This record gives sequence, structure tokens and C-alpha cells, in this order.
Amino acid sequence: MYRSPARPPFVEGRPCTTCGTRLVLTARESDVLDLIALGKTNDQIADAHKASLHAARTWVDNILDALHATGRVQAVDTACRVGLLNPPATLRSSDEEPKVPELELEAFRLKAVGRSKKRIAQELSLSPHTVKSRLHRLYKRLGADGAAHAALILHGLKLLPSSHPCHTSETTGAAR
Ligand SMILES: [Zn+2]
Repeated sequence: MYRSPARPPFVEGRPCTTCGTRLVLTARESDVLDLIALGKTNDQIADAHKASLHAARTWVDNILDALHATGRVQAVDTACRVGLLNPPATLRSSDEEPKVPELELEAFRLKAVGRSKKRIAQELSLSPHTVKSRLHRLYKRLGADGAAHAALILHGLKLLPSSHPCHTSETTGAAR
């Protein structure tokens, strides 16, 4: 009798260098996270898995919980840092890598760790409008389908910090 190759039911990230904790996803959540990192919507995730929109929403919520993320972009950033996502070295067809201005990157680095636009504006002493337009210019430059996809691309380009975010430390505990 044919049996499909066993697939491990869980996928583990690299242990935290500070506290040793590993972030864990189910195999299904790991597949869904790949779609989130490509900027797919809940509708598209439901279609890809032949599931209901409700099921897709539940998977996404569970992924955010498992990764201690306030949103999709932070989930992708954390997953890249702990090895639950492996961004391709380049996602662009051209050989030339996009030049990414530091002004755009500094706004995105804050977004990637879960800061709101308003909070980013405060931290950088900019108007929310300026933050928004810098982020949008960045996504366009990268050919990214939204913030989560931009996080994947920027990790692939090694333009975001790759240090393990320690979720037991109070300083990184994001407000939900
Ligand atoms: Zn830790």
C-alpha cells in the first residue's frame, strides 16, 4: 500500500540565543506563512488551501500568536530571523539589486518589528504621511506586494537585522 512520505507535523525555528526557546509552527501554518510572505491575502490563502475564509483567518491568527507578532510583517520578520522562512538571496529577475535608501530602510526596520505608522512617525520625528510615502516608495522599489513581502525580500538582501528576537525579554514584548 502506498503511503505518502511522512511529513513532520511541526516545524521548529532555531533556538533563541538568549533563552533557548524555539518558536514552533504546524506544517500547515508553515505552508500558510510562505503565502503570507508573498503578500497573499486571506482570500488567496483560503483558495490555495481549498479552505474557507474562516479557516484561513484562523491559521493566520494562530501564526501571529505562535510568532508573538502584532501583524503579518512582524511575523515574516521574526520567521526569517529564526529560520522558519528562508528568503531567496534575490527575488528579482534582473542581476542588479535595488539600491535601498537608508531613509526608507530606517522606517521599515521599525515597521518590521511591529511599530504602528504613528509610532514610527514619532520615533523618527516625521509626519505619518511622510512615513507612509517612504514605505510605499520602498515597496515599489523592491517590487514587493505589501509590507510582509518587503520583509522577505529585504531579509534576502540582508538589509534587516538577523538577530534572534527574544520574546521572553520585556523590551521586545510588543503591545497587542
Ligand atoms: Zn529568548
